[in-house]
Amino acid sequence: MSQTRTAGGAVSLGRHQRNCSICAHSQREEIEAAFIGWRSPAAIAEDFGLADRASVYRHAHALGLFAKRQRNIRAALERIIEKAGEVDVTASAVVAAVQAYSKINAAGQWIDRTEQVSLNDLFDRMSTAELEEYAQSGTLPKWFEATTVGATEGDSPE
Ligand SMILES: [Zn+2]
Repeated sequence: MSQTRTAGGAVSLGRHQRNCSICAHSQREEIEAAFIGWRSPAAIAEDFGLADRASVYRHAHALGLFAKRQRNIRAALERIIEKAGEVDVTASAVVAAVQAYSKINAAGQWIDRTEQVSLNDLFDRMSTAELEEYAQSGTLPKWFEATTVGATEGDSPE
């Protein structure tokens, strides 16, 4: 009666490892880090000379990397925010990413604030430079903070 159940099943993991090019790969840790960092599996396969992205998914599934990646949602948001300067990401996508990013702590947990100042409006008014500044240093423009302090009663005039 010493049998303990392992989440995901140890038997299938053993079978997986025998057929997996990533498990035996010399850069396995880098591959896993890239996956957890929300790099595209197709790009990972190409960069590390793997057969195809399906092998990345198989390995990720067998090793439980999806859950780790999920907890690393900040990395996905960072990628969007970083790109705002270079690519033509729509303003609303950046705003949504910055907002979500600001609500997620390092453990990947969503922190919803009870007070709902109309942040959407405020983020809409921020310039790309101001959004980037906020994404990188957490510094909000002065006008932003002045507005939120005065708008806590929830009856913002529209
Ligand atoms: Zn593997």
